Amino acid sequence: MARRHGVDWRRAQALAAEEQAQFVRNNPVSRALAGRAAGHMLFGVPMHWMRDWSTPFALTVREASGGRFSDADGHEYSDFCLGDSGAMFGHAPAPVARAIAHQAGRGYTAMLPSEDAVWVAAELARRFGLAYWQFALSASDANRFVLRWLRAATGRAAILVFNGCYHGTVDDAFVDLVDGAAVQRGSLLGQVHALTAHTRVVEFNDLAALEAALAGGDVACVLAEPVMTNIGMVLPQAGYWRAAQQIMRRHGTLLVIDETHTISSGPGGYARAHGIAPDALVLGKPLGGGLPCAAYGFTAQLARRVERAKAGAPPGHSGIGTTLTANMFTLAALRANLAEVMTDAAYATMSALAARLAEGLRALIARHRLPWCVTQVGARTEFQFAAAAPANGSAAAAMLDPQLGRVIHLYLLNRGILITPFHNMLLVCPDTGTAAVDKLLRVLDDCAAALVAA
Ligand code: PMP
Repeated sequence: MARRHGVDWRRAQALAAEEQAQFVRNNPVSRALAGRAAGHMLFGVPMHWMRDWSTPFALTVREASGGRFSDADGHEYSDFCLGDSGAMFGHAPAPVARAIAHQAGRGYTAMLPSEDAVWVAAELARRFGLAYWQFALSASDANRFVLRWLRAATGRAAILVFNGCYHGTVDDAFVDLVDGAAVQRGSLLGQVHALTAHTRVVEFNDLAALEAALAGGDVACVLAEPVMTNIGMVLPQAGYWRAAQQIMRRHGTLLVIDETHTISSGPGGYARAHGIAPDALVLGKPLGGGLPCAAYGFTAQLARRVERAKAGAPPGHSGIGTTLTANMFTLAALRANLAEVMTDAAYATMSALAARLAEGLRALIARHRLPWCVTQVGARTEFQFAAAAPANGSAAAAMLDPQLGRVIHLYLLNRGILITPFHNMLLVCPDTGTAAVDKLLRVLDDCAAALVAA
């Protein structure tokens, strides 16, 4: 009997076929909509990667609130994907809904600051400990803008990222470590620049490699998640960030922490909670309650350098910023979200729920003797297909099994549970509730039993 990651692979393939057939039978309206969409949308979906889910055709959402949503066929789901963090605090949180309803008749965008912007920047400074802030429409944009500011401020061209990272559609970060060498990611479409000329890449948790890569004194900044989350989760080893920051300071390299996902850790993010002191911080996805907005902060010292770089440049386009950035509508949402949704109490609820989930997952894995592991970072929990948690991106990549993931995701979906595609991430929001967590554990237990059965 062929086993793969502890499951009977023949059973897994048979189960995949059964679940695919059931999904098609269960979702005639989504299927019809997908058929119509195929005539007018590239790949039949608004974003090409929406075809990469585990389903034979895209599931169409009808409406969503809190930790649940319904689809076009009228099925109800518990949502543990939560828009891959965009809805980390639940769909349509009431304070955000009220704020945007209020703003709806008061203008959306004017290319001028609104009063909300002043409050929001002060609150971001208080929460995250960085003095000066700017806005963007997505975390991808925010990362791009930060790289530009920091290259300008330092006069250094190179940046460094960790192998297996993802920071959005930031071309500079699409460089992998292959057999010890930096290689441009082949999947990147239409990229004509040689990205390896200015991007260094090393493994996470490897201090010696970091030291060697920064030693030349030409690296403007390290762009990093404090915990890697996009190749499966990879935790920093004890003392890693303290030592890494010492290396960066020694070589005059700045640290940009991207908290887009790890804001799941607590009200001030992972960095604040773990004593990491970045020069720049990036926030995105859930910041505006699910509306498109992002923000980035600089220390006072870096802000001065950045201002000097701008003052020293010729007048004209900076390459930083877009017209709708910091518009009145999203700023109203952002203010309500920070003031009334991303609260200490909400985080306490989320962390307790996630701990219940992580504990349940570990028990389930032990019960079925699966060689899988579980990592939890605040509201974010993930199971990975190896017995020991990975120490770097290469190890995490080796644990990915998209085919096995797809069977599990589809099995859950057919039973009213959505989890994050492409890896096995489970996010809880303040409204998720213990009943949904316990149902997820029950259904996953049934799934594991079906997969393990000889
Ligand atoms: N940073 C990190 C760490 C991310 O995971 C992502 C998206 N998954 C981004 C930035 C980009 O976010 P967006 O797609 O909203 O621009």
